[in-house]
Amino acid sequence: MEIASDCSVALPLKGTERTLQLQLFPMPAEERKPEETREVVPPFWRNVSQREWDDWRWQLRHRITTYEQLKDILDLVPEEIEGIKHSKGRLALAVTPYFASLMDPSNPNCPIRRQAIPRIEENHISKSDMVDPCGEDRDSPVPGLVHRYPDRVLLLVTDQCAVYCRYCTRRRLVGTNERSITQGNFEEVLKYLKTHRKVRDVLLSGGDPLLLENERLEEILSRLRVIPHIEILRIGTRAPVTLPQRITGGLVRMLKKYHPLMMSIHFTHPKEITETVKRACGDLADGGIPLGSQTVLLKGINDKPYVMKKLVQELLKIRVRPYYIYQCDLAMGTEHFRTSIATGIQIIEKLRGHTTGYAVPTYVVDAPGGGGKIPVDPVYVISRGKGKVVLRNYEGKTFEYPEPNIIEFKRARSIGEEKVASKKVSA
Ligand code: SF4
Repeated sequence: MEIASDCSVALPLKGTERTLQLQLFPMPAEERKPEETREVVPPFWRNVSQREWDDWRWQLRHRITTYEQLKDILDLVPEEIEGIKHSKGRLALAVTPYFASLMDPSNPNCPIRRQAIPRIEENHISKSDMVDPCGEDRDSPVPGLVHRYPDRVLLLVTDQCAVYCRYCTRRRLVGTNERSITQGNFEEVLKYLKTHRKVRDVLLSGGDPLLLENERLEEILSRLRVIPHIEILRIGTRAPVTLPQRITGGLVRMLKKYHPLMMSIHFTHPKEITETVKRACGDLADGGIPLGSQTVLLKGINDKPYVMKKLVQELLKIRVRPYYIYQCDLAMGTEHFRTSIATGIQIIEKLRGHTTGYAVPTYVVDAPGGGGKIPVDPVYVISRGKGKVVLRNYEGKTFEYPEPNIIEFKRARSIGEEKVASKKVSA
């Protein structure tokens, strides 16, 4: 019997060719490795041609939306079967074949599976759950538009997504009709934006704006671009992760016309970074689009520092700058996904100083009820005394920083000014 380097042993199972893997001692968290990326087309789709598989419209048309389809692809556990049954009339079930191909068919705790397959826990509504946890409806002057911060707005252009994330904060809106903003609404939005000259930044979101056809998306971007005070256009999307086939040459060529245009991509786990996703992000980056990531902190999915560290490091390698980690919002039926805020702080503590600064995102809590994003950081300022600040570094060592002596500086300056004045008088 040989003990492997990860402290496990493989015991042959009598009468079979299989082995039983036993972990002798748990490995320290830092040495553990998150699940590896696997991009294998499941047997269910073996007859599909490569051309079809690479076509984003084929992927959308063949989304898995029922228990009957799903049971042929995954070994569903009772918690999932019940969850799927109860998801009717709530947040819809939809998974692209591509995203389903990343799921471990026999492990219900697979991080990709946990994000997209409904579970019975969604039926539990805690007393903190809210229909509109970020208070967006309250800050909506025109349907489809959220105007909370002084110089930027959020424009919800569709309620459709390629995959419906079970923790979605906009579950009250997404997936209900799978429709884009109506022309009438869009005209109202444009009228509002033209008369609000302080707005210099429009973030297109939804749903997922990249689920619109190029022509419709271009119409929206071009009409926003001609408003003189709108400086920046941004797109919030998860398509490069759940439907990377959507990033076509035609899309990138169209987006390039509307620079400065940025993209925030919703990544959750390192397992999502497949060869196809790398190609998609590479094409967007080559199109001159600055890419940032947004990640929701999720219990049992990415709440371990070693998972988040792997994610942010892999993101930098594909030219996506880790931008935000969000504390999971108080959306209905999502308590089982929520971690404590201390968990998020601990993750930042394990990133800051331990890896490239570019890889360290800002951890934020979107204040319940509409207070906006509040950054939450580990405490690095130990104390502030007269003339000095005591700081702590990433290793826990403390250092003193002497503050400039403002009073002496002012006194020295006024003496200097007096001398110049007296010279002028004597002259
Ligand atoms: S992609 Fe975004 S909007 Fe769509 S379901 Fe997921 S979290 Fe919600």
